[in-house]
Amino acid sequence: MLTVTRYHRAKNTFKKIFNHRWGFLFGKICETLQNHISKISCRKLRGVALPESIAVETCTQCNNNCSFCPQSSNPRPIEYLSEIHYQQLVDKIVDARFGGALLMSINNEPLLDSRLERFVSYARVRGFTGRIGMFTNGLLLSEERAISLLKAGVQYIIINSYSNSGDKIMGKVKEWIASSEKIKELNTQFPHVQIHLLYRCKDDVLDNRAGEAPNKKTVYCRRAACVFPFSMMNITTDGSLILCCYDFYCTTKFAHIGDGSLAELWRHHYLLRARNKLYEADRTELSLCAKCDFRGYTERPPGIFRFFPV
Ligand code: SF4
Repeated sequence: MLTVTRYHRAKNTFKKIFNHRWGFLFGKICETLQNHISKISCRKLRGVALPESIAVETCTQCNNNCSFCPQSSNPRPIEYLSEIHYQQLVDKIVDARFGGALLMSINNEPLLDSRLERFVSYARVRGFTGRIGMFTNGLLLSEERAISLLKAGVQYIIINSYSNSGDKIMGKVKEWIASSEKIKELNTQFPHVQIHLLYRCKDDVLDNRAGEAPNKKTVYCRRAACVFPFSMMNITTDGSLILCCYDFYCTTKFAHIGDGSLAELWRHHYLLRARNKLYEADRTELSLCAKCDFRGYTERPPGIFRFFPV
């Protein structure tokens, strides 16, 4: 049930050493290669009736201050998703027989929303049988909170434990997750649940998050396809749909959850146009993508994010 991995740390160290320091030619070769890999991912998902996953922000806050996240330098106003909009979303998910993953976070810290368990229970009571998961920094994840989330119907919790010190596990999660006895108990009580603990660095330099990462204020329009709008639907706190999870300030709102069925929203003309452009590796006409250096695909190391496209 519990996987502790150093995968991300190794990946980020590699990125730090090589990112943008390769020669121009080598950089271009890499970009071409990345475009091919992204295109393959996009092609597989082109024309599918529903997304692989739906991510929803039930609140906008975070209680951490990582250097790569816009939250640390220019946080968004505090907002909450209304229960009516959430229920509308779940009702559409159930009506569409959506069988993918429902992710209860995007760029926020989901545990700051005390309604989370109620939201998850509502999806289960309405008959959603797909996977429900979330990303958290674990600072507020006490053992009691973890159990109440699992009882409500959460199946996957990805804990990104951000630290700059030798102390790799931060916050309340530290109090229980290192105990093999506690883990054994949870394994017995919730045999089908997965909790992944990832060691992350608070001052990593990652992608430029479409020009908004405070520690990488670059504007670089990579010439590569991008799989996100082919695989994932993102819902913000006012019930609007945005292009992708890199849109921290929600500048690409193109529809509202009330505007149609799930399948209709997934075929929205804005998304179709964006997918066509991105499949052709043409990011220039999409205001957000034109500033984005994301390489266009996500890797799926064994055992991690096996069920999540992000
Ligand atoms: S290119 Fe960047 S901004 Fe555009 S969809 Fe992909 S991740 Fe989002």
